[in-house]
Amino acid sequence: MGSRVIIGGALERAAAARIDALTRELSMREPQNGTLQSGSAGHALLFAYAHRRFPDRGWDTVAQRRLDHALATLADAPPADPWLVSGLSGIAWVAAHLGRERLVEAPDLAAVDETLLGLVQSNWPAHYDLLGGLGGIALYACESPHPLASSLLEAIVRRLDAAAEHSSRGATWRTEPARLRLSRFREVADGILDLGVAHGAAGLLTALATAALRGTDGARRLLDEVTRWLIDQRLPPGSAALFPWHADGVEPARAGWCYGDPGIAAALAAAGDAVGDASWLAVACDAVRATASATSSGLSVRAAGLCHGVAGLAHLFGRLYRTTGNAEAASMARLWLERAVAAQIGPEIPSDLFNGAVGVALALLGAIDERDPSWDRVLAVSVGGAEQFDVAETGRA
Ligand SMILES: [Zn+2]
Repeated sequence: MGSRVIIGGALERAAAARIDALTRELSMREPQNGTLQSGSAGHALLFAYAHRRFPDRGWDTVAQRRLDHALATLADAPPADPWLVSGLSGIAWVAAHLGRERLVEAPDLAAVDETLLGLVQSNWPAHYDLLGGLGGIALYACESPHPLASSLLEAIVRRLDAAAEHSSRGATWRTEPARLRLSRFREVADGILDLGVAHGAAGLLTALATAALRGTDGARRLLDEVTRWLIDQRLPPGSAALFPWHADGVEPARAGWCYGDPGIAAALAAAGDAVGDASWLAVACDAVRATASATSSGLSVRAAGLCHGVAGLAHLFGRLYRTTGNAEAASMARLWLERAVAAQIGPEIPSDLFNGAVGVALALLGAIDERDPSWDRVLAVSVGGAEQFDVAETGRA
């Protein structure tokens, strides 16, 4: 992993002050559920990283308390919901990740791996995407220290491969009309081939790259096919973005993490860096260029958060700079960080990870901490270091 974007002292101090205000405020809000998106698992992630950067504030205690609460919600009633954004795999991802990074005491998650493996191996119907499908469970399997995680990852890759539409142009997945929530997609009768990270093909790249590095059967082939398909969807030169919302769409997607060039670029760069394919990094840099052009011609982003807001853009360009060393990514990161620090976060903004204050604070922290903001593996925009890949072996020994 490369180094962070160098930002000016005044901007750094402003970001630190904003983080301080947000974490103090959030520490007084007790989450009502355990989830990654709106509950104590998301809070635990933030407070653990806040403690890493500001070790004298006592945030480690808050992180541990929030994590204990999130895990207790699993013990009380095993959730019917296994998904990353709203259920078991998201809560377990935070616990596994913070344990792996030694930011909290590593909890025993063996039962989670067993539950998820049972589900994935059953006839249980599952969608493929990151936030509400197999992609999110795959991310958990990449993070889990348990020996069963290898079998879990293998089972998911097999299911993803079977569910994909394969053609000479590569492989991807179809989103059925019933799952299309965004109004812009509702009139598409046959469903869509979604490109974005949150609900589309780009959200699978880092899990497949991790699986490929671990030698999971079929993972590298599937990764190559999906990436080939994704890159083939680029819009004609001169378009307002490199990628559309979905295949067959001609409208350039908005610039965000969930949909659009910055999220796709970060996922593509992370996967290309992990498996050593420089051509994917080059496409990521083309996408950076496309957002930079749109920004200079007045790209306006109204939301504050990680998902499709200014904090998300600041973080994604910072991540793209760490992965690619691209100078344009560095200047985009500085510019969007300025906007993120200036953005108003009033009490009407939820405290959640994807659209709220937790995500804004994590993005700002990533910009002012020398160490890698590894928490963004949960956004499928980075891949863990080499030490991640022999864990299953160590576990067996
Ligand atoms: Zn979004």
